[in-house]
Amino acid sequence: MSKDFNIQITRTTCPKAKPDEANLGFGRIFTDHMFLMDYTTENGWHNARIEPYHALAMDPASMVFHYAQECFEGLKAYRRPDGKVQLFRPMKNIERMNRTNRRLCIPELDADDALKAIQTLVKLEEDFVPSLDGTSLYIRPFIIATEPHLGVKPADSYLFCIILSPVGAYYKEGLNPVKIFVEDEYVRAVKGGIGYAKAGANYVASLAAQVKAHELGYSQVLWLDGVEHKYVDEVGAMNIFFVLEGEVVTPELVGSILPGVTRDSCINLLRSFGYTVNERRISIDEIIAAHENGKLLEVFGTGTAAVISPVGELNAHGKKMTIGTGEIGTLSQKLYDTLTGIQWGKLEDTFNWTVGIDA
Ligand SMILES: *Cc1c(COP(=O)(O)O)cnc(C)c1O
Repeated sequence: MSKDFNIQITRTTCPKAKPDEANLGFGRIFTDHMFLMDYTTENGWHNARIEPYHALAMDPASMVFHYAQECFEGLKAYRRPDGKVQLFRPMKNIERMNRTNRRLCIPELDADDALKAIQTLVKLEEDFVPSLDGTSLYIRPFIIATEPHLGVKPADSYLFCIILSPVGAYYKEGLNPVKIFVEDEYVRAVKGGIGYAKAGANYVASLAAQVKAHELGYSQVLWLDGVEHKYVDEVGAMNIFFVLEGEVVTPELVGSILPGVTRDSCINLLRSFGYTVNERRISIDEIIAAHENGKLLEVFGTGTAAVISPVGELNAHGKKMTIGTGEIGTLSQKLYDTLTGIQWGKLEDTFNWTVGIDA
């Protein structure tokens, strides 16, 4: 930790009523406070503070508005059966945020300070961590370039902010399988680009395809590689796994894919279950062939928001493939139960993945 890292806390004088846990939805309700910290070239990161949640006043010339110099993260705090609150692998998110920062020319954070910021804010807002099944407190750290300047260059001032949102299940359908459209016109990212960075800019690149998929009756897009439109990359905000006969496969991290914390956790869990997991290039043609030969057993997406999202149908080049019976597969269910069991403190944390909120 930097030696003079100190968080100034200003408490709200008008706390909000706690939301109805049965109708949280995703990312529309925010807690009473937010964390803020400034960066300037002269002073580095400084002025760490927690304030009542409020709108930001910004210069319209702030560089983030014009050239999208912005990064974000997403992780969750979970309410354990004993009432305590815990985080899941938060250092993985902080390390990833710093990898994103390096790619986007945003100054890196001190990792221990960032963890302390998350813990201190979550601790202050502990009563907002819901306890109904499947609910959690979503944590959204982000950094924006604030320098008012229309020239294109890395900004010399930034704001690091953390907001919190109590959330229910990500998909309205719950654990029901989703229908996914394999996108072969638009691309999301290319090697050498920013695909591996958690940058808002990646999401704006994906919107047109998402709108198209929705119009066709699909809830998500499966991206193919940006050069040949042949190899599987990932789903909208999830990594993708295919359960084949004798092997579970997921695309290797080649720079165009977001290295998900849930992806890494699933690889570890699958190996601990005794499965062979290969991170490799997977062509969509291989998946189509495996489906035709009855060797495509299960498909699922992984991400913090939805945890495990079983895929019931894939539409590749107009060819509709029902995965298994179209219901959640046994391995997807086992992974979901194990991972959520650890996250919510219902199963023993044999991997030492959970972290408390006492800074
Ligand atoms: C955040 C994200 C994921 C999932 O990452 P987790 O760390 O598992 O939440 C996957 N793909 C994209 C594009 C993402 O932004």
